Amino acid sequence: MEMARVGEAAAQAGGADCPGAVVDLEQPTDLSALIFDGATDLLSEPEAYRIRQCEACVVHFFDTSRKGSRRWCSMNISGNKLKVAAYQRRKRDSEPAR
Ligand SMILES: [Zn+2]
Repeated sequence: MEMARVGEAAAQAGGADCPGAVVDLEQPTDLSALIFDGATDLLSEPEAYRIRQCEACVVHFFDTSRKGSRRWCSMNISGNKLKVAAYQRRKRDSEPAR
């Protein structure tokens, strides 16, 4: 029997005031408690408006950028995909029509 501490990172950040829940992991479906706890932490975040969907895929992310203007989940995957598409669009638009 394994015990998992839910919100351990939050507990470390919040100190003793934020101990997190302890979940008894006996079934794979018990992991849903961990996921649910993470989701409630995220949605109760004071800056919940920073949660947005990536413009290139289905992933939702928490925007940690200073300006709060991040548009994609990952620069390596979605950011690169959008930048390549924008480059190709600019290149196509600048070519003279035949
Ligand atoms: Zn993405």
